[in-house]
Order: sequence, then structure tokens, then C-alpha cells
Amino acid sequence: MRTLNGKNLAAAIRAQAEAEATAGPQPRLAVVAATADEASLWYVRSIAKAAAGVGIACDVVDLGADADAGQIGATLSRLSSDPQVHGVMLQTPLPAGASAQQLAAAIDPRKDVDGANPLSLGRLAAGLPAFPPATAAAVLALLDHYEVELEGRRAVVVGRSTVVGKPLAHLLLDRHATVTVAHSRTRDLASVTSTADVLVAAAGRAGLIGAAHVAPGAVVIDVGTNPTEDGGLTGDVDFEAVSGVAGALTPAPGGVGPVTTALLLRHTARAANLP
Ligand code: NAP
Repeated sequence: MRTLNGKNLAAAIRAQAEAEATAGPQPRLAVVAATADEASLWYVRSIAKAAAGVGIACDVVDLGADADAGQIGATLSRLSSDPQVHGVMLQTPLPAGASAQQLAAAIDPRKDVDGANPLSLGRLAAGLPAFPPATAAAVLALLDHYEVELEGRRAVVVGRSTVVGKPLAHLLLDRHATVTVAHSRTRDLASVTSTADVLVAAAGRAGLIGAAHVAPGAVVIDVGTNPTEDGGLTGDVDFEAVSGVAGALTPAPGGVGPVTTALLLRHTARAANLP
């Protein structure tokens, strides 16, 4: 079984981001957060650190867990119209009553480097240029890096969120895969996932995908990041069990995650260079 590590690919994408970032005026990314969730704030800090490493300025706009939807929306609008800011990202979770999907409509699509504005998803679905959500793009980047053939192959995506499952289904369709999207109401999940040549788990349920869910030799991409009791993270795939059946499998963490952050930076560098 091949382990599809994301770290080398992430380093290559960061190098591209750095080359693009240093070719013109310094790109600036603004990350808006309104949460006390430690894991989420840790992720925001890791983006800021990675941005600094490739010559991208990153402002973390922390509105605090008490911010309301009006404040968050106004902040996104202000950053979207600020010519000094090239990329705008809204971090989740948000306070109760604030909808990420509704608020992300305030992000200028040209600065929507994490593909959160519903217009970006619509453009993606229509085959028009748009920034895809970095996580969905990271899955495709990993499949391409490891030269996994997609054309005419059966791909099953477990999860239908607007940040991962749905945009990924469109990206896979664009690459001529035959795509099935499974979700929490799917009956007999294993009978669906075991038809996949390429299986992507993005449900946020630790250990959801076991050996019985995977066809022999399938390529399995684990998007899940689930907190463990000891303070670590684990994926949606039972790595031990599935590595005995799959042909290739990403580790989680260490697979999709680092590629996601690197792509967010490359999108920001590209946004800064848009004509
Ligand atoms: P989400 O919004 O909670 O969506 C989860 C999806 O999985 C939903 O469509 C849900 O179905 C489906 N689902 C839940 N339980 C299921 C089950 N037992 N069987 C089949 N489908 C099930 O989560 P998300 O934001 O898409 O994130 C998914 C996972 O990816 C999370 O672990 C998240 O932390 C991780 N993630 C990782 C990265 C990264 O860079 N590595 C980035 C973003 C997210 P329904 O629609 O029917 O509810």
C-alpha cells in the first residue's frame, strides 16, 4: 500500500506561492475569526505563520466569540473593498446565529481565496474560473501529484458540505470521474463506498471508513480531522484496517491538511496578481 503523504507536495506548492508572492507587490491575506475554539484559533495562527514563511502578509482579525453577524459581515465588506487586501477568509465556527454561508457572500469573489462565497461555488459548478475551497482543491492536488487517473473512474465522496464535499464533486466531475456523493442519510454506506476506485472521506466522523468500506486497491483520501481524547487529531478512515485493503491512502494528519494551507497561500498570491 502506498502512503500518500502531503508534506512534500505542500512544500512544493508553498515554493510556488513564494515565487508568485515575491514577483509583484506583497500579497496580503486577512483571516476573520469570531470564536473561542482553541483548535480553530490554532489553525488561524498556523496560516499566519505559513504566510510569513512565503512572503505573504497575514492579518488575523479576531472579533471574539461575542461578535454578532452584523459585525462579521461589516468586517468582511470592509476588507473586501480594501485595495491593500488581496485575500479574505472567514474562519469557522462562528457564534450562534451567524451563518458562514450567508456572511461569505460579503467576500469579493476575486478575493475569495477559500471559495466560501456561494458565487464561487456556483461558478465552479458552471465550469467558470473561481477559487475552489482550498480543502477540495487539496484533494485534487494530491490525486494529481500521485498521478491517480480520474477520467472514467468511479469516485465516491462521503460528505456534502459546501466547503468540501460539494465543490470536490464538481472538481472530480470536471476531471471526467463518475461521481457519487454519500452523506448521513445514505443507506448502507459500505455498499456505496466499496464501488469506488477513488474514495474521499470528508464526514468528520473518526473511524467511519473501515476495511469493509473499501474496494481492494482503491485510492483513499482522508479529509477528516477529528479531535482525539489525548489532544491530537485523527481522520475519518481507520488507517490500520484500511491500509490492508486500499492501494493508496493518505495519513491524517499529514495528508490533505498541509496541502490545504499551502493552496490557500497560492490562491492569495494569485489573487494579488489578478489583472
Ligand atoms: P460538515 O459540514 O460537518 O459536513 C459533514 C458531512 O459528512 C455532511 O454532509 C454529513 O451528512 C456527512 N456525514 C456525517 N456523518 C456521516 C455518516 N455517518 N455517514 C455518511 N456521511 C456522514 O463537515 P466539513 O466542514 O465538510 O468537514 C468534514 C471533515 O473534514 C471534518 O472532519 C473537518 O474537520 C475536515 N476538514 C479538514 C480540512 C483539512 O484541511 N484537512 C479542511 C476542512 C475540513 P449530512 O449532510 O447528511 O449531514
